[in-house]
Amino acid sequence: MDHSTPLITTIAGGLVLAFIFGLIANRLRISPLVGYLIAGIVAGKHTPGFVADEALAHQLAEVGVILLMFGVGLHFSLKDLLSVKKIAIPGAIVQIAVATLLGMGLAYGLGWDLMIGIVFGLCLSTASTVVLLRALEERQLIESQRGKIAIGWLIVEDLAMVLALVLLPAITGIMQQGHSDFTNLAVSLSITLGKVIAFIVLMIVVGRRVVPWLLAKSAGTGSNELFTLSVLAIAMGIAYGSVQLFGASFALGAFFAGMVLNESELSHRAAQNTLPLRDAFAVLFFVSVGMLFEPMTLIEQPLAVLGTLVIIVLGKSIAAFLIVRMFGHSKRTALTISASLAQIGEFAFILASMGVALGVLNKDGQSLILAGAILSILLNPLGFNLVGQYLAKTETIEDQIIEEVVEEEVAQVPVDMCNHVILVGYGRVGNILCERLHDQDIPLVVVENSLSRVEILRERDISTVLGNAGNHEIMMLARLDCANCLLVTTPNGYEAGEIVAYARSQRPDLLIIARAHYDDEVEYISERGANHVIMGEREIAQGMIDELYQDRENKKDTMMEGCPI
Ligand code: AMP
Repeated sequence: MDHSTPLITTIAGGLVLAFIFGLIANRLRISPLVGYLIAGIVAGKHTPGFVADEALAHQLAEVGVILLMFGVGLHFSLKDLLSVKKIAIPGAIVQIAVATLLGMGLAYGLGWDLMIGIVFGLCLSTASTVVLLRALEERQLIESQRGKIAIGWLIVEDLAMVLALVLLPAITGIMQQGHSDFTNLAVSLSITLGKVIAFIVLMIVVGRRVVPWLLAKSAGTGSNELFTLSVLAIAMGIAYGSVQLFGASFALGAFFAGMVLNESELSHRAAQNTLPLRDAFAVLFFVSVGMLFEPMTLIEQPLAVLGTLVIIVLGKSIAAFLIVRMFGHSKRTALTISASLAQIGEFAFILASMGVALGVLNKDGQSLILAGAILSILLNPLGFNLVGQYLAKTETIEDQIIEEVVEEEVAQVPVDMCNHVILVGYGRVGNILCERLHDQDIPLVVVENSLSRVEILRERDISTVLGNAGNHEIMMLARLDCANCLLVTTPNGYEAGEIVAYARSQRPDLLIIARAHYDDEVEYISERGANHVIMGEREIAQGMIDELYQDRENKKDTMMEGCPI
């Protein structure tokens, strides 16, 4: 690799390879994550050709974790977090204990000593933030009750890992001195806990006031650049500060940074502005995981790898399933949470390398952990699909509806309507259309992917389908097959183009009207089959011209001077 510009080489190589393999995966109809991981293996030192800088790739991956957790915080209120604490705290603790014990069992079988077994087991116990959030996001589960439990659970696991990372050097220090000094340990533990609690309190008391104020100030400058910069500075700055000053983790720091912004009016815009960066760095996360993979481990220790994988994928899932069921939640919730947590990621790598550095984990253990991580991440989408298929088979439609009403409070109420209007998006444009159509009693189904907006519509008894209109099943739930007209009011013209293309492929006779903001979007959407494309900016210009003429008309009979047009 080029040593003069390792950062640029790593970013460019990582992104280009991820793009190529992601595209291939997409073509083969498998999750693009698989493509990114393979890109990482190709960029790693264990395969010939291009080799990216491992340490830099790891740091870039951390940026991905920070931005992702910041995004979660933006949608997650303190109320949400507290509402799932009853299940998330015991759930995470029991699951960590089960995974650690199973890991210790495997380590014992491999002839390793007790301390190695504990560290090995702990490494297998914490799920990856990036993988979990990606999986929930793809299935639109982030804002569901199941999603909230899984995220709360993950946060408790993160906290436990922060403690483990701080305590491990203290414990090994005591062990190496040869005598057990529990006072030292208790002091370390209290200091760590104290610092994390101080950070959380500081964020809730001070951050909650200062951070939204800062954001509002930067929005007030009118510069989009400064606004985006302020969002990034807040996310990265707080995450970094939480690690340096309070010994917390990047993920935890970023989560709280997002959470204090949560109540601000600007949080939606903040989330939107950081989206492209977030996605790019999340991709680099998967590339960096792939880079660590040593294919030889699979050949040299196949049984140990299998054992590790079984602990991560089955052991942890069964434990999670039983705990969630014990708390009285449905099979559907229990299975979703089990599938979400059946993988390991960033914390395992950090803890494993610390273990190796401190001499409490061997190289073999680290290789097994890496192999377990990459295989469990690869298998994760499969796990979700199996859960989906199993539920579809075992639950009747009525069951599913009742389940979702109970679990999600927002169900996909089946739409029983024909000859209706499908309105995609209930934002600034969609809500005006919705009011008009609703007032005139025109049969209407709204498709909207924001849960809070769907809740408002459902309260008013307006038929609504929750989900992304780009998803064909969602459009079928809205009864595209027998609708009269489709109004696409989403702001992204290219996304609208895809929605229009699918609708046109299904319904050659449907009247389709869509929204656009640029000339090329108008062309793109029209080519895909829309009957009319309304470009917002043109209508604004027309509106202004009309006002000018109206003003001149009004002033015609007076002595006042109108605008010279
Ligand atoms: P506005 O830009 O204010 O008109 O808002 C657009 C609305 O469309 C928001 O409420 C979004 O949640 C919603 N929206 C955007 N993309 C999609 C999509 N692909 N499927 C469903 N709703 C969407």
